[in-house]
Amino acid sequence: MLERDVTDGVQDACSRAFPYGMQIGQNEEEKYTKEGDRRMKHQDIISKMTLDEKAYLLSGRDFWNTQAYSAKGVPSIMLSDGPHGIRKQEGAGDQLGLNGSVPATCFPTAATIANSWDPELGEEIGRYLGEEAACQDVSVLLGPGMNMKRSPLCGRNFEYFCEDPYLAGKIAASYVRGIQENGVSACPKHFAVNNSELRRQASDSVLDERTFREIYLTGFEICVKESKPKSIMSSYNMINEVYANENEHLLQEILRDEWGFDGFVVSDWGANNDFTEGVRAGSHLEMPTTAGDGPEKLIRDCKAGKISEELIDRRVDEILDVILSTRAACDAYKGKKFDVEAHHAMAQKASEQSIVLLKNEGGILPLAKGSRVAVIGEFAKQARYQGAGSSVVNCTKLDSAMDVIGNFDLDVVGFEAGYPRFGAGDASMQAKAVELAKKADYVLLYLGLDEISESEGLDRSNMKMPRSQTDLLAAVSAVNENVIVVMSAGSAVEMPWISQCKAMIHGYLCGQAGASAMLKAIMGQVNPSGKLSETYPVKYEDVPSAPYFPAKQRTVEYREGLYIGYRYFETAKVPVQFPFGYGLSYTTFAYSDLKVGTKGVSFKIRNTGKADGAEIAQLYIGKKKADVFRPAKELKGFVKVFLKAGEEKTVTIPYEEYTFRYFNVKTNRYEVESGAYEIMVGASVADIRLQGEITLVGTDAPNPYDMTKLAKYAAADVKQISDAEFEALLGHAIPDGSWSGTLQMNDAIAQLYYAKSLKARLVYKVMTAMLNSSFKKGKPDLNIIFIYNMPFRAIGKMAGGMVSQDMCEGILQIVNGHAIAFFAGLGKVIGGFFKQQKISKKAKSFK
Ligand code: BGC
Repeated sequence: MLERDVTDGVQDACSRAFPYGMQIGQNEEEKYTKEGDRRMKHQDIISKMTLDEKAYLLSGRDFWNTQAYSAKGVPSIMLSDGPHGIRKQEGAGDQLGLNGSVPATCFPTAATIANSWDPELGEEIGRYLGEEAACQDVSVLLGPGMNMKRSPLCGRNFEYFCEDPYLAGKIAASYVRGIQENGVSACPKHFAVNNSELRRQASDSVLDERTFREIYLTGFEICVKESKPKSIMSSYNMINEVYANENEHLLQEILRDEWGFDGFVVSDWGANNDFTEGVRAGSHLEMPTTAGDGPEKLIRDCKAGKISEELIDRRVDEILDVILSTRAACDAYKGKKFDVEAHHAMAQKASEQSIVLLKNEGGILPLAKGSRVAVIGEFAKQARYQGAGSSVVNCTKLDSAMDVIGNFDLDVVGFEAGYPRFGAGDASMQAKAVELAKKADYVLLYLGLDEISESEGLDRSNMKMPRSQTDLLAAVSAVNENVIVVMSAGSAVEMPWISQCKAMIHGYLCGQAGASAMLKAIMGQVNPSGKLSETYPVKYEDVPSAPYFPAKQRTVEYREGLYIGYRYFETAKVPVQFPFGYGLSYTTFAYSDLKVGTKGVSFKIRNTGKADGAEIAQLYIGKKKADVFRPAKELKGFVKVFLKAGEEKTVTIPYEEYTFRYFNVKTNRYEVESGAYEIMVGASVADIRLQGEITLVGTDAPNPYDMTKLAKYAAADVKQISDAEFEALLGHAIPDGSWSGTLQMNDAIAQLYYAKSLKARLVYKVMTAMLNSSFKKGKPDLNIIFIYNMPFRAIGKMAGGMVSQDMCEGILQIVNGHAIAFFAGLGKVIGGFFKQQKISKKAKSFK
């Protein structure tokens, strides 16, 4: 029976769903508050600072630390990666995880924790991270990473939460609350629309404002509003032709004015393009240092009247506020050490609560005590537990399955690696594994993606599991019918081989203590309660962004619009391997008694099985007769509830401002459409258990679209969007993303391939050869990958002051190669070098 509220409910739901009745800037009181916010908090300090000092404070002192002016009361603070552990570098700094870092706890990565659907867990992990940061004198922890999984191929998906902005926002907010509890700063990243690694530092994400807001910003919005991060990291890429780091729409209008952010914005490492434009738009800190190159430009521009000193003061004030408070937070921890064992235990708990049971034919799991098992798979010996790149944590200790299996009541008949970690299969390793499999009643087969497949700087080229492993599975399952696959991978893979195993338990990238967590789940000491936070398509070609990924030229066109992940699969009715929100348990749950109220929904969940366990119930909203096209189902709430066998609880999921809204590109704000909405409560997006309806009186905004021009969007048929239809969605012409052949400052170095100069093309060839050979050795050269994707201007940004922007321009002239340009370019490089030497000295003179 539904409980419908038509009058009360409408008003209430609308005002909650749309609290922007008065838009920012429309009313005097709000204006006053905005001005009030701009009143300087640290005038006393700023009034003592020179323009030079102010400008240099807005650029790093080195790779990880900010400038200090001790005599004026401005201390330095340190920023470190993140996101799932602290990567504090004391020696040579790098943003690729290449050089050493101080030992820290490696918690499961974001992709793993998203499967827990548990903000309390996120907050708890955050607290541990915050403590480790403060103990290591790290004021700003560079995380969580919260970009949307637009494509399963993005190399950094393991570092990101999921494909849904609501879930990502809620979990990210919980991390931030936890991290910041002791006063240090979290730093959600990468803001925004950075969803692939290829040419990530130079690419232009082209998308319509509604998709931008609803899909790529809502997670950040929830995070900012609910957890007040003290800092945020702007991404490398451009958004609709403007660099994120100098995008006023993003950094000022949306982030500060609409969401009320009052911390500082740091550029991703080397992401700063035009220093002055960054400061003007709302960016506060260029990292790493450019040894004065950026600040000197700001000083020049300020003196020339291109930017006011008042605006610079404001940025200084905003960042100073965080510098001072986080410095104090770290100082309070001086000399303290975190409890390594307790933190290891927390990492294990986090993994336990995020495990997803994907298949359990005939209830083969959990295994009975004393079961005879063969352990097969290289990953059982050397755990696959985190990804590659800037997030790499030097963990305090590391468990692998073979290290800890002795703690469990199992009769282990032996171990075989079965496949080499990287590259092609090995017949003799496979044969040994098959022999071992014959001796056991069950095979625990550890499979997954290797480190090469999941790395910053590099997208995957397909969604397949390594052939060496799928061949092994086929061979082992031919001799033993009880194969239990134990998966480690930070992103979705195709599973055409799934019928060859009886059970599959997925730990994603489970951190330093995940091995015990997985075995506890296999033995039933932990009842798996995670659910997938991303869709597993049947095959990559089914993915809505597949035709547009990776970007072929300078632009990344988001032609699929709103339809990412389950939003597409559910609306277009494309079958999947595993839907979003899916996960099994050793028990079963029954849903009943849905009540659709004015403030939210309530319903009952009963544990109908024999084991205690937790269920994640999900609230989806849809609108059958929508004037404004929208996905069939959108996640708008969830609850994780623990129930003892036989127990029943009533749970509620409240409506929020996000529940019914859509972004109207005509009125340029969120609106609510009038009419009946479907309320769907499910165990996954594809397993809706309870349905109801609520009727709302909306905000009466005009439909912003001419639907005759958007027929494919209305039908979610988005895999072949024509230029005309994409333009209709964008509301303007598609920016020309093609390369002219003449390389420019913002073209990626990989584009040397197109260079006019023979020498430059040779450089490209050598780089490519080095990269390929590093792949063959099983360890991709992240340095080369980084350089590959880097635009020419970033040579200066990443060279720690050795190379100025003038010099970059000179290099470019050389590369573009005519004889005269060559000499002019050379002159610029040499002249630039001497100029930069002077500036670098000045940068170092500040104390
Ligand atoms: C990454 C960031 C990271 C930064 C510092 C960049 O390459 O994109 O996520 O925080 O380096 O290491």
